[in-house]
Amino acid sequence: MPVPVSQMWTVATYVLKQKLSGRKRYPLVLMLEPLFRCNLACAGCGKIQYPAHILKQNLSPEECFKAVEECGAPTIAIPGGEPLLHPQIHEIIEGLVARKKYVYMCTNALLLKEKLHLFKPSKYLSFSVHMDGEREHHDFSVCKEGGYDAALEGIREAVAKGFRVTTNTTLFDGADPNSVRAFFDDMMEVGVEGMMVSPGYSYDKAPDQSHFLGRARTRSLFNTILSNRKPKWRFNMSPLFLEFLMGKQHFKCTPWGMPTYNLFGWQKPCYLLQDGYAETFAELMADTNWDNYGTESGNPKCANCMVHSGYEASAVDYTFGSWKGLWATARATLFGTYEDNAALAALDTHFKHPQPGTLVQIQSNDSDEVKV
Ligand code: SF4
Repeated sequence: MPVPVSQMWTVATYVLKQKLSGRKRYPLVLMLEPLFRCNLACAGCGKIQYPAHILKQNLSPEECFKAVEECGAPTIAIPGGEPLLHPQIHEIIEGLVARKKYVYMCTNALLLKEKLHLFKPSKYLSFSVHMDGEREHHDFSVCKEGGYDAALEGIREAVAKGFRVTTNTTLFDGADPNSVRAFFDDMMEVGVEGMMVSPGYSYDKAPDQSHFLGRARTRSLFNTILSNRKPKWRFNMSPLFLEFLMGKQHFKCTPWGMPTYNLFGWQKPCYLLQDGYAETFAELMADTNWDNYGTESGNPKCANCMVHSGYEASAVDYTFGSWKGLWATARATLFGTYEDNAALAALDTHFKHPQPGTLVQIQSNDSDEVKV
């Protein structure tokens, strides 16, 4: 079971309550960034490009709790930066667990083994370890030799001590589907509870702008990876969001589903774009011109985006929005192996062993690919 029943129940009842109350836009996961500092300098991430005086700053536990209460989402993701560099991260986690929030603390796990004693295992706390694939792919992606082995050590230690551990993986153009599938096998063997995957987004502060995926390439890559699925793989995310990545569902972006709070305030409109900040969550919801965002809006910044922070909440909303959505989710959960001979052939031919960082040719006739 990739997610505990109590968590599924909490999220399901929360969403149903929002729907029954007629709330059109509601948050599902708060992206709480208590700092931007990191002990890695990944090419696909722009967080550490902020000036030194910003990188030195932290949100206090009280600021974090205030944001969590304003927002009201049942789940909190803590990206960053590297949260384990925050001097009070254990207080923040303790306070969120006490508030019965389901917390995914994202970490590159370089410090996890050393800092594990600061935390207590709880059904409310998961370490979501950033792993971008097998050893050479991960080390290439995070620009650090030995990064994979250190993270794996942290994962093993946390699993052995009874913590919930998941992985989060960002895939960029040039990802080798065979290798990604082998990586899924490895993570299941290590004992992680579930895996999360998302395509890289052309984050404009990221130093490497050349390997972000367009929508057609995203669908083709994810369809090849996630078709012919092995029953042992467990994913800690909406099965319909995975279908969306594979090109089997169409969703519109709902950026309010995963709002972001950080050192600057409530970020408009989403985790990826920075079109200003609001002082309060209510102001964010009221003052953001939501029609300007999402692929259908024509906003070039959104053209190729398929990331989970824009579209996973849309998938969850669809699940609880109709019997059709509920049935699609049940079908995907119970029977979703997605046998596909063309995807198998693609594994055997097009994608055999490209080197990390090289482009692979993906055949696609999709017309909504936008070059950025
Ligand atoms: S499409 Fe992507 S970039 Fe645009 S608002 Fe949605 S999540 Fe943000």
